[in-house]
Amino acid sequence: SEALRLEAVEKTYNAGKPNEINVLSGAELTISSGEVVGLIAPSGAGKSTLLHIAGLLDTPTGGRIAIAGEAVAGLSDRRRTALRREHVGFIYQFHHLLPEFTALENIVLPQLANGVAKGAAEERASELLAKVGLTARAGHRPAQLSGGEQQRVAFCRALANKPKLLLADEPTGNLDPATSDVVFGALMGLVRETGLAAVIATHNLELAHRMDRVVRLDGGRIVPA
Ligand code: ADP
Ligand code: ADP
Repeated sequence: SEALRLEAVEKTYNAGKPNEINVLSGAELTISSGEVVGLIAPSGAGKSTLLHIAGLLDTPTGGRIAIAGEAVAGLSDRRRTALRREHVGFIYQFHHLLPEFTALENIVLPQLANGVAKGAAEERASELLAKVGLTARAGHRPAQLSGGEQQRVAFCRALANKPKLLLADEPTGNLDPATSDVVFGALMGLVRETGLAAVIATHNLELAHRMDRVVRLDGGRIVPA
């Protein structure tokens, strides 16, 4: 089935003002369940804008979006937020884990917010931590973990609510090359195992070519890389 569809997506900031900027102009992208797409874009090309729009954190100024087959146009804010919470997971360059909570708790909390019972949430969090080799770190707070470990916890958190679509903005961008390679492997393992669709933005061409398909943002459009 289809995880994400972007049709003729437009984004203009500051429309009608002297500082108007057209970032996306006719962006098209369709991703099937289980497909992992690498996104390459020079800085300023609109990668973050695209990921925010695809993840329903920002609205386009034109075009159509569907997530998991559901068209987003015309939905109430409430329904859009529900759709995002149910179907989309985000990963950023910097992990944004909650510093006062343990690794396990950071993965449990979004599940509680989504209505999952505590016991089931803890079980799922433990399973996810095991998949990325962090069982022994479950009770550690982010400051007690290495950068690569923190990022692996962030991957588990992004997948905690079993999203259909994962959007990752340079998920290994702040790690050294060796760590980046290991952590990327952990991410791909999780993605493959859960069979979810993903868009993974990266500047690392070698990593991008380990994905199913690579696209590039060029002049506001999405083109094959
Ligand atoms: P990237 O992630 O590829 O670096 P962004 O999507 O962050 O690119 O930004 C693309 C362009 O849009 C940049 O020129 C940026 O300055 C501009 N931009 C991003 N967000 C805003 C905003 N909220 N208001 C005005 N301009 C913005
Ligand atoms: P919650 O379900 O806790 O209320 P939200 O629905 O606000 O959380 O956010 C869901 C996801 O979107 C989280 O991963 C959060 O980090 C991300 N997010 C929310 N707002 C923004 C934003 N303005 N920019 C980037 N990411 C955001």
